[in-house]
Amino acid sequence: MCLTIPAQVFEKHKNFVLVKTDSEIRKINTGFLTDLKKGDWILHTVGTAVRIIDSEEAKEIIELLGKTKYIPQKLSTQFKEILKKIQLGGDLTKEEITYLLRVKGDEKKTLFSEANIVRQANLHDFFCIHGIIEFSNYCKNDCSYCGLRAENRNLTRYRMSVSEIVQTAVDAVKKKGYKLLVLQSGEDYFYTDEMLVEIIKKIKEKCRVFIFMSVGERGYPAYKKIKKAGASGVLFRFETSNQKLFKRLHSKGKNFKNRLEHLKFFRELGYFIATGSLIGLPGQTIDDLAEDILLTKKWANMVSTGPFLSTVDTSLADVIDNEKTKKWKIEMNLKMIAILRLMVETTRIPVVTALETLAGVNIRKKALQSGANSLMFNLTPAKYRPHYKIYGHKFYQKENIWEKYGLFKDKESYQMLEERMAKELNV
Ligand code: SAH
Repeated sequence: MCLTIPAQVFEKHKNFVLVKTDSEIRKINTGFLTDLKKGDWILHTVGTAVRIIDSEEAKEIIELLGKTKYIPQKLSTQFKEILKKIQLGGDLTKEEITYLLRVKGDEKKTLFSEANIVRQANLHDFFCIHGIIEFSNYCKNDCSYCGLRAENRNLTRYRMSVSEIVQTAVDAVKKKGYKLLVLQSGEDYFYTDEMLVEIIKKIKEKCRVFIFMSVGERGYPAYKKIKKAGASGVLFRFETSNQKLFKRLHSKGKNFKNRLEHLKFFRELGYFIATGSLIGLPGQTIDDLAEDILLTKKWANMVSTGPFLSTVDTSLADVIDNEKTKKWKIEMNLKMIAILRLMVETTRIPVVTALETLAGVNIRKKALQSGANSLMFNLTPAKYRPHYKIYGHKFYQKENIWEKYGLFKDKESYQMLEERMAKELNV
């Protein structure tokens, strides 16, 4: 579902109202809302008013998404050159990205503010709320950072049945209005390709929704069938672009070369790709993060980048964050969002749960104001949630206001998503 910035009516006419935004006066057709009055707060989409919104809640949304133009005092020549290059559409080099990842003070504020402005200019204050259903925590792999790793004997394992997955997805679409759902699991071959195909087909038969699969390295034939069944995208991180580090973290299972090959054939098959890396892995440097940004830019239609969180029952359980490392990860995550927003203006960048878990609820606003433009809500049935421990103490959002005002009754919201995805995939 999508949300727009609320606007206040300041002039009422027969079939339309005038609303004021920061920079302009907009004419909005009243549509079905024939009794709009001066002073009402409304949500509108493609030039038509969709619903009235409570003024307090309108203010809360505006606060969250509001403009934050920062007027910088001191910017270095190098920083100004980099910004100019971005404005002219030039590709940043690794060195320039590294410079941006290291900025402090005024330059840091300017980086975030510029990214926020680019988000607003290109995405017109729309942002979307996607859902994720974690349907199995079985995994054949042994990623040393992940609590689902096969060798973890202390995890209560679960698998949702085909009908349970379908029902959860259909409820999310029909009752709550989600338009894009990620179906995620460990790499679990209990679910055959045919079962995944059946799940996708059954969901698509019952409702209109974009389905993204996040099920690991199942190979080309599987993903061909999954695409044919109706999946639109994949959520598949490359985890880190540093191949040595990748090898160290994945002694069994995942393989860097195979992961890149998957990204290649995902594109060939016409998938919408959500990818990115982990931030703050032991031994990872700022240089690595700059490479991660370049690799993300190369492959991502949607960015999925979040902090590594140390987890019990993994070989990295002892790598506990202190205040300093925690701050570093949060800052790097925000900077990566901002840099990617500047480099790829129209890409989707969700605020990921791991960042909210690390930094708390207030980070959502900061991340949106640093260039992120969507949220990912957890829709896993409550009885399974505690067992999907890729990391512990997962953060669950205050979802009410978002679900209440997501424009879910509107088919425009689906169409808009469809148009935008098609545009990005150049189809
Ligand atoms: N089986 C799928 C999905 C993996 S789980 C696949 O292979 O693509 C989804 C993501 O969770 C992983 O890609 C990883 O980036 C992230 N993750 C795993 N453990 C984590 C941890 N300890 N902290 C933060 N993110 C983690």
